[in-house]
Amino acid sequence: MTITTDDRSLAFARRLATTPAPEQRRENILADPGFGSHFTDHMVAIDWTEEAGWHDARLQPYGPIALQPASAVLHYGQEVFEGLKAYRHDDGSIWTFRPEKNAERLRSSARRLALPELGTADFLASLSELVVADRHWVPAGAERSLYLRPFIIANETFIGVRPAHAASYFVIASPAGPYFESGVRPVSIWISTEHARTARGGTGDAKCGGNYAASLLPQQEAMRNGCAQVLFADAETGTRVDEAGSMNLFAVTRDGALITPAASGSILEGITRDSVIQLARDQQIRVDERDVFVDELCDGLATGEITEIFATGTAAAITPIGQLKSPAGSWGSVDAATGPVTRALRDELTGIQHGRVEDRHGWLYRLDA
Ligand SMILES: *Cc1c(COP(=O)(O)O)cnc(C)c1O
Repeated sequence: MTITTDDRSLAFARRLATTPAPEQRRENILADPGFGSHFTDHMVAIDWTEEAGWHDARLQPYGPIALQPASAVLHYGQEVFEGLKAYRHDDGSIWTFRPEKNAERLRSSARRLALPELGTADFLASLSELVVADRHWVPAGAERSLYLRPFIIANETFIGVRPAHAASYFVIASPAGPYFESGVRPVSIWISTEHARTARGGTGDAKCGGNYAASLLPQQEAMRNGCAQVLFADAETGTRVDEAGSMNLFAVTRDGALITPAASGSILEGITRDSVIQLARDQQIRVDERDVFVDELCDGLATGEITEIFATGTAAAITPIGQLKSPAGSWGSVDAATGPVTRALRDELTGIQHGRVEDRHGWLYRLDA
């Protein structure tokens, strides 16, 4: 992809870590990084105030950030975030996937949460700054990556209820190993009948921390019922599928078409979702973005009208779903093999990301050049 530099306004100051992780410690972490608990040597920070706009862009050692107890984010949850990955290709170069989409989505999330918007070129530059400094932290190999977490917090010292006049943007990075420890396997998913994730006009289509806070209790319920994830239905009727709370949902019908809930304002429009729709259409697979009903999936699994279900998101790319469960019963089986459509789409998507399948759409963006 090509990016014009028109909206690039910031120059990054660089302060490198004086005590980076010793090589041996880093290698040990990269051998088994898990997800989300180890962080690289550096971070990016950019401050914003109403008077000065975005300023003081810098690369600095990873470490605690100072916040006043009265910082707005701590009281009203004025925060938005992104998630994307850096992949090391076989020739050693480091790439990410459709980052301009993350930049755009961070801006639209920020608008919804009354936070300042960062330009695409500054967003991309912030990723490159961090990944170049911490390039040794990008693992090689299929299913491995460096997870990048940009986020914006309201940090004005003021507890009155209004949009904060000061905010900060950060990027941190965490090495990620295979999401499925023993190979890709179908999971079961719990249909939440009591809780909704969002409602029409809410924040469901913004990537904000508050949505996740609200999903933790139903997620706990899912795990108590032996499920890996929770499936949310629409708040008004409880009959239409929204999404899985951190992943978008797809099903394959008997005639080989894909169905997925239309973006109606109550789902977070995943970049993986958008990419899967494109890859399917490239193969002449019909994709219907429409209302998908919870009963349609449950009954369909029983009758064979629905042949595969899967979920999409940056963390796991594509997760096969073998079984749906609710207080009313269970449908399908976790022992089912991953379906052929799910597998083919997953192989192609992860193949493009890791540089092993041709990038027909120009989705890759080089971070270390
Ligand atoms: C981030 C997210 C997704 C997946 O989006 P991707 O861009 O594919 O990673 C789905 N649902 C929610 C609620 C999310 O926050």
